[in-house]
Amino acid sequence: MRSIAMSFILIAAASAGLSFSVDTGRPVVSWDAADASWDHLELRVSSAPFDAEAPGTGIVVALIHADSLTGEFPTGMEIPGGFAVEPGVCIGCGLCAGSCPVGAITLTDGKAVIDPAACISCGMCANSCPVSAILAANDSAHFALFGIDGEGAATLLESI
Ligand code: SF4
Ligand code: SF4
Repeated sequence: MRSIAMSFILIAAASAGLSFSVDTGRPVVSWDAADASWDHLELRVSSAPFDAEAPGTGIVVALIHADSLTGEFPTGMEIPGGFAVEPGVCIGCGLCAGSCPVGAITLTDGKAVIDPAACISCGMCANSCPVSAILAANDSAHFALFGIDGEGAATLLESI
């Protein structure tokens, strides 16, 4: 009986937290249910591990809002677009925008910004960047879910 209880605990622990998969052929991130009192959630990606003491880090790949009927947040989503720009690394040269076959990249305030709705995940921009500022949102990247309160302050909830 004790071994059955221990197995349940281990399975529960293994299933907790953020996870990344491409089981359906598209990148999907899943997470535990979030407290419904947050104003909204942010899914972010980074090339480095996330730190709860640095709540401003990472590139926002999705803003997540609670369901208008249930008030509950979803517990996973398909990542829109496959690439993101690290603004702290980008030098604003514009080479990526020139290489994008679908015009998904614009320069805003001297930094490249990718429109995830237009991106077809071809990877041309990442290959053209001279400073490796463009990050592929894949299983080698780090993901984090942040809870954003009514004042806009971010709290790290889960990360991988
Ligand atoms: S991955 Fe391809 S489509 Fe997406 S922003 Fe880069 S160049 Fe454009
Ligand atoms: S190629 Fe790289 S450094 Fe140049 S604008 Fe694009 S992301 Fe920034």
